[in-house]
Amino acid sequence: MKISSPKESHPGETRAPLTPDSVAKLVKLGAEVSVEAGIGLPAGFPDEMYAKAGATISTDRASLLSSADIVLRLRKPPMEEIDLLKPGSLHLSLLDPFNEKELLAKFAARGVSAISMEFVPRTTRAQKMDVLSSQANLAGYEAVILAARYSNKIFPMMTTAAGTILPARVFIIGVGVAGLQAIATAKRLGAKVTAYDTRPVVEEQVKSLGAQFLKVDLGETGQTKDGYAKALTDEQIQKQRDTMTKTCSESDIVITAAQVFGRRAPILLTSAMVAAMKPGSVVVDLAVETGGNVEGIEYDQVTTRDGVLLVGTANLPGRVPFHASQVYAANLVGLLEEYWDKKEKTFTLNLEDEIIRGCLVTHGGRIVNEKLSS
Ligand code: NAD
Repeated sequence: MKISSPKESHPGETRAPLTPDSVAKLVKLGAEVSVEAGIGLPAGFPDEMYAKAGATISTDRASLLSSADIVLRLRKPPMEEIDLLKPGSLHLSLLDPFNEKELLAKFAARGVSAISMEFVPRTTRAQKMDVLSSQANLAGYEAVILAARYSNKIFPMMTTAAGTILPARVFIIGVGVAGLQAIATAKRLGAKVTAYDTRPVVEEQVKSLGAQFLKVDLGETGQTKDGYAKALTDEQIQKQRDTMTKTCSESDIVITAAQVFGRRAPILLTSAMVAAMKPGSVVVDLAVETGGNVEGIEYDQVTTRDGVLLVGTANLPGRVPFHASQVYAANLVGLLEEYWDKKEKTFTLNLEDEIIRGCLVTHGGRIVNEKLSS
């Protein structure tokens, strides 16, 4: 089976879908692996490392794509590259499927089976394939590092001959995978951390990391069967903002990481709440790629409003591309290994399997995923 991986073409993308270690694993499974020249350079993996791991290095992107039985990527492909894919081949990448209906239609028309890595179910068996978690974890870490860099304060408490420096106060809104890592990282740096999430089960996780949980009485909130937050009503959002205003105004750093799967992120920090914060405070909006939690946040920009620094930097995992590529590639290999027929040395697309059913979006010339049927 021929597995190919092109260099990412999205402007500014630093991550690679495959690393030399992951190539070695695929070669061991009996796959023939080809990667495009320069695929791992921005992440710190030169071509020679891929070659040493057993990959062929290709400078012909079109034939790399058209000869593959399986294509591995990080981001969605440019539309025109779908025409190059072999009918009947398998394509694995992030696809932003709720917003990319045309792209999916094109995959279907080409007869390609496309797996959308965002749709891998959040179950124990699928954990090793869960790119949302592997990338969000790094984003949570990086958000705190960025905040510390932009802050005019240090994080830890220090008792010195020149007096006592109080610990920075960090408020984290939205405690999924990214929020939990942000709490852990801010705690490690010595900050005093408060956090909030609408899912009641999160309170215990926040406390187990040594942070305080902000109580907001919103009535019924809960989570979906997949563990995702349910969208709040306008009234609940307003109540949440009212309660959080005080905590924001007392914080030096606010990190927002609140998302509702498949929807625009809720606006939780209004301009009035930002204006009530202390000058010199820093807000990092981790939800900027799904519209942002901060009113008026600018995509991939750092701006100042009312003396508060608003950080809308995009692709935070891409700021640590070595490790982001390492874990993303491990997720892809985890998925391929799970369904690999060792005797035949081929990948079997098991349409009865719960994980495959969850993340396969096109197959047999059609869009097949039930999450996309409404
Ligand atoms: P996410 O990125 O979809 O959302 C981030 C957080 O924002 C969530 O915790 C959500 O509850 C919260 N949120 C939404 N609206 C909010 C609001 N108005 N105010 C405050 N917070 C708000 O979440 P995620 O990190 O992708 O995790 C989603 C779920 O999947 C979680 O339950 C997580 O524990 C679970 N999960 C399970 C596994 C597994 O079992 N294998 C792996 C990873 C994640």
